[in-house]
Amino acid sequence: MKKTHSLIAACAGLVIALGAGLSMANFRSAEATSARATFARPTAVAEAPKPPGVDLTLFSALADPAQLKKLSGDVNACHEALSAASVMFKEVPAMKQGQCGYAEALEISSSLAQWEPNPGAPKDLPMTCGLAAKLHLWERHVVIPAAEKYLGSPVTEIKAFGTFQCRTVANTDKLSEHAYAKAIDVAGFVLADGRKISVLGDYYAKGPEGDFLREIRQRACDLFDVTLGPDYNEAHANHFHLDVGGQHACR
Ligand SMILES: [Zn+2]
Repeated sequence: MKKTHSLIAACAGLVIALGAGLSMANFRSAEATSARATFARPTAVAEAPKPPGVDLTLFSALADPAQLKKLSGDVNACHEALSAASVMFKEVPAMKQGQCGYAEALEISSSLAQWEPNPGAPKDLPMTCGLAAKLHLWERHVVIPAAEKYLGSPVTEIKAFGTFQCRTVANTDKLSEHAYAKAIDVAGFVLADGRKISVLGDYYAKGPEGDFLREIRQRACDLFDVTLGPDYNEAHANHFHLDVGGQHACR
């Protein structure tokens, strides 16, 4: 939406600038000056300054706290960053369920790999844009390169147990970041060669599958506010919990 707006603004600016150039030409020819010189200008006007966005395709975005903060704090900038990285997404209507809910969430429809619900999980994966952008950074700069390094095959699907769920953190009365669509539970991965890698089955495996899972969990800590996996407790034996809720943990 914002992109369309900037395009319209840029076009309008060009039309105004060209109009101004033409008026100036008429004025000068009326004065019997050389009309040729007045047409030499429009190129500078066509290049309207563009505010710097967050480029998710750059590895450097992974380690830039100011850029990462911008993704969570400015939904328009975040949408632009996803679009510029060729992530297709659809915005989803606001949802309120007691104390739980979200106002501006989206679902990823297409990315480098497909984000899919694990068999039996809720089919929708609504998430805040801040979460989606960090998931894309993780997918692009951590998960896919690690799969190629350890397993020799790209990741084609990332399976999740879910994102939004109106519930508290286990054994507490504090609402989970899942209650705000700021968290995802990643269950496993499917590779281009058909192999399936699951957190439950492969995290502690001695070999490339385990190396892959342990590395991407560790490096998730550079991105997400909270990263929890099988090392944390039994409740996380089958998934990585990744959230952007503002607390900090890497377990
Ligand atoms: Zn979780």
